[in-house]
Amino acid sequence: MPTPRELLAAAKTQIVEVTPTEAAAELGSSRFLDVREGDEHAQGAIPGAVLVPRGQLEFNVEGRLANKDERVVVYCAGGVRSAFAARTLGELGYTDVVSMAGGFNRWKDEGLVIETPRTLSGDQRERYHRHLLLPEVGEHGQQRLLDAKVLLLGAGGLGSPAALYLAAAGVGTLGIIDMDVVDASNLQRQVLHNLDRIGDRKVDSAKKTLTAMNPDIEVATYDVRLAADNILSIIEGYDLIVDGTDNFPTRYLVNDASVLTGIPVVHGSIFRFEGQVTVFDPKVGPCYRCLLPEPPPAELAPSCAEAGVLGVLPGIIGSIQALEAIKVLLDLGDPLVGRLLAYDALEETFRTFKVRKDPACPACGEQAGEIVLADYDELCMPHPRA
Ligand SMILES: [Zn+2]
Repeated sequence: MPTPRELLAAAKTQIVEVTPTEAAAELGSSRFLDVREGDEHAQGAIPGAVLVPRGQLEFNVEGRLANKDERVVVYCAGGVRSAFAARTLGELGYTDVVSMAGGFNRWKDEGLVIETPRTLSGDQRERYHRHLLLPEVGEHGQQRLLDAKVLLLGAGGLGSPAALYLAAAGVGTLGIIDMDVVDASNLQRQVLHNLDRIGDRKVDSAKKTLTAMNPDIEVATYDVRLAADNILSIIEGYDLIVDGTDNFPTRYLVNDASVLTGIPVVHGSIFRFEGQVTVFDPKVGPCYRCLLPEPPPAELAPSCAEAGVLGVLPGIIGSIQALEAIKVLLDLGDPLVGRLLAYDALEETFRTFKVRKDPACPACGEQAGEIVLADYDELCMPHPRA
């Protein structure tokens, strides 16, 4: 039977070690993996390190470090657990792993930079427990959601389910822009509101519902019409926009502001029995003008108020928007960037279509000039710089 000392010596012959000073030179370029326990990590850690305790490594690390060819610096308190962890990572297929000799204790003794990670409160642990069970989300992902800021355009059919689910998931700041009042005809689908709120401002009703459900979140309300002269100041500071607007001029305005600022838009629309969702992330994919260079003529594009919409349908589309928003915020899976999801409620089918970046797009194409925000008429053409 080998002694623990012999096991460690054997493990060390199979791994590469670096000193804390050498590791510190890799801050910002390599991933740091902390294999200590959660309570050790909470008292101080290397900035940006991912926590996966040694005992959970085999089962959870792939959810946290998806790229197996990325350089990983593993550390623990003294360099023993990390030596075994580095060997395990090699067995799991990670190709460029080093263990930090002397561990966090030596890192600290050498006066290298540390941070005290924020931790969830007891109430938050309970509330978000089902998120914490997912290694792809975990405490780190929940913190990211709590730090995230999402702006919802509209507190209506799409905005209602999207806001409810984003609030429930713990997205820390929700902005809601809407200038309508709650009307009895809204209640067929706009589940943020209720009978007592008829006649109230929609943003106030939305805020009451959301904060009653989750006190962790801040709700900022904008009881205004989104226009060229206020859109940039409203969207500034938000990580993402969930677009539930129902008119073309606003969609083009939002698109052009998104291309200008780089803020991604989760777009949703509904019509009678059909809905569509896609994600416009102008840094990596097509924009709304790539998909729809110009709006259909007004007589062919009636609004919900004119054409009707089946209840529940906005609940499905708005919920998918909330899900896509969370995926973008947490870098999870494949968001609908460059893909349009079309839902037909009568057939009960989902189809996805590719949406390509248009090289000739007037907003994001190769020849696109400087974007000038303007209030659009029905034609929604981009305005040239004067
Ligand atoms: Zn475009």
